[in-house]
Amino acid sequence: MLIFSLLKKSVPEPVKPNAINLLDFDRKGLAAFFVGMGEKPFRATQLLKWIYQEGIEDFDLMTNLSKPLRAYLKEHCCIATPEIVLEQIASDGTRKWVLQTRCGNRVETVFIPEESRGTLCVSSQIGCALACTFCSTAQQGFNRNLTTAEIIGQVYAAQNRLGNAGKITNVVMMGMGEPLLNFDNVVAAMNLMMDDFSFGLSKRRVTISTSGVVPAMYRLTEVCDVSLAVSLHAVTDELRDQLVPINKKYPLNELMEACRENAKLAPRRTVTFEYVMLDGINDSLTDAHGLVKLLETVPAKINLIPFNPFPNSPYRCSSNNRINQFKTLLNDAGIVTTVRKTRGEDIDAACGQLVGQVQDKSRRHLKFQAIDQNKPDHFAS
Ligand code: SAH
Repeated sequence: MLIFSLLKKSVPEPVKPNAINLLDFDRKGLAAFFVGMGEKPFRATQLLKWIYQEGIEDFDLMTNLSKPLRAYLKEHCCIATPEIVLEQIASDGTRKWVLQTRCGNRVETVFIPEESRGTLCVSSQIGCALACTFCSTAQQGFNRNLTTAEIIGQVYAAQNRLGNAGKITNVVMMGMGEPLLNFDNVVAAMNLMMDDFSFGLSKRRVTISTSGVVPAMYRLTEVCDVSLAVSLHAVTDELRDQLVPINKKYPLNELMEACRENAKLAPRRTVTFEYVMLDGINDSLTDAHGLVKLLETVPAKINLIPFNPFPNSPYRCSSNNRINQFKTLLNDAGIVTTVRKTRGEDIDAACGQLVGQVQDKSRRHLKFQAIDQNKPDHFAS
């Protein structure tokens, strides 16, 4: 059954236009903020506990802060999350929330409940500047990076909304946008997800997915130890240039080198490779053999993603038969391979279906209209 509910717009406390949003800081950032105003750095952990563990947003109730500090925070700061304006619940229990940002755009966040865990799929940008041809977000174009507060605010707002109905145990940065093109804000938000004084998720339960922004992958390896997923989708530069155009800038050999570097972070660490199954495009058994060869020198797992269609999408999903053959070939070659279960399809909450509401500044949507009118051969349906 599909339940669809429009939440009554609550009336949030008016936020002063120049108020500093404390959700924009991870612990290090907060400590620097407090030191900058002549306070001790440990105020940062006190504040994180109030916000994320006690759910207190009223500075007057933060009783272990001095009265003058509380008054200062009240005057100059705020704790503001994007507002949930729409909630949809799929027949399989997947929930999609549409969140309104201050600039009037909307992003989407998805909660996927499973028996032993609850995964939140978080957006990092309003739209996406990349132009992966099989992804619906790409067609929306791009507006701007989300702030740290808007990213961690998705986790905060989702957990509040869920209450006892579900617990977020895992976060995947696989919603709208390319997280590594919003590096600093995404890293600060992931630090908060893993901070013991905030959400306290283990680093294995926070995953960042990238289309392959190679220089940022190296930076990430240096500063933030989270699980890495790479959207591979093709085993030749020729095809990947078409499906994931950032490949023209950072081709497969450079991408694989960055993955090997990341895998060195710990013994037995693996990189997950996502591979969308597109009928007649990248799903031949030659492609599967190519995948085995490509990943020979990278400690890898593979996640096959059945293609999720969206309006005007130029592709079809591979048959179940072909997906299973592909999977068996890879598993037989010794690479742990799973097929991603499609969740939340009836509310357009599956991979690549998140669209939000994006005031496009990149004119990307115009390019997609042009592609649609002038489809190359392999786009023909
Ligand atoms: N920009 C990041 C994260 C966002 S998408 C990235 O590219 O990794 C999360 C995953 O969903 C990516 O692997 C993406 O390639 C995949 N995806 C996008 N559109 C899809 C679609 N229509 N069907 C199935 N998977 C899709």
